Amino acid sequence: MPSCGCCGKRVNLHFSSKNTSFYDNEYCSPYCREFVEGKHEMVNGWDKTGLKNMSGIEWWPKLKFNCEVCGKEYHTKKNGSLFFCSLECALDLNRKSNIKKAKSLFATFKMMQHQRKYREGDGWMSGKAIYEKMKNRGDVSYNSFPSAFRVWKSYGLIEVRSANIEGVRMNEYRIAERFMSEPIGKFMIECRPKRN
Ligand SMILES: [Zn+2]
Ligand SMILES: [Zn+2]
Repeated sequence: MPSCGCCGKRVNLHFSSKNTSFYDNEYCSPYCREFVEGKHEMVNGWDKTGLKNMSGIEWWPKLKFNCEVCGKEYHTKKNGSLFFCSLECALDLNRKSNIKKAKSLFATFKMMQHQRKYREGDGWMSGKAIYEKMKNRGDVSYNSFPSAFRVWKSYGLIEVRSANIEGVRMNEYRIAERFMSEPIGKFMIECRPKRN
């Protein structure tokens, strides 16, 4: 089992629906990835409290993220909330998007965002490759991605291309460029079908 490149915690790739390790096995959490990539430092007890006898103690700092649902900045400590500024926003993804299994779909998009940013091949993945990753979450039982993505292609969140993979023509998918930085959950809610 790999261990986190920041805090050393073991990273379990399987049945990890509560975190990001089903697609990111370099760090145990977005917090740890940001701590390293953003070159953050531990908070020293002496600096924090002004007490010299606290100098041997170090704290993980609070780090800044943008909420995936409301888009606002929030600060979170290690082991804090992933992706959402509040429980309210985390619940809103389900309540307001009107999508069955919204959390699972959101996790799929985050995985694809990670793939486009860090992995080879500009982020293109076959439906099968996406399914193989999402299976690790433990809550996806069959490959429904090609049909589920049709609507997200029309909204502009997913790009599709036809590729030749070992002599077979098949579709490949990736997250659209603008969603490398824009909040994905917010967009999912905005796309909710309007009632007449
Ligand atoms: Zn870690
Ligand atoms: Zn929020």
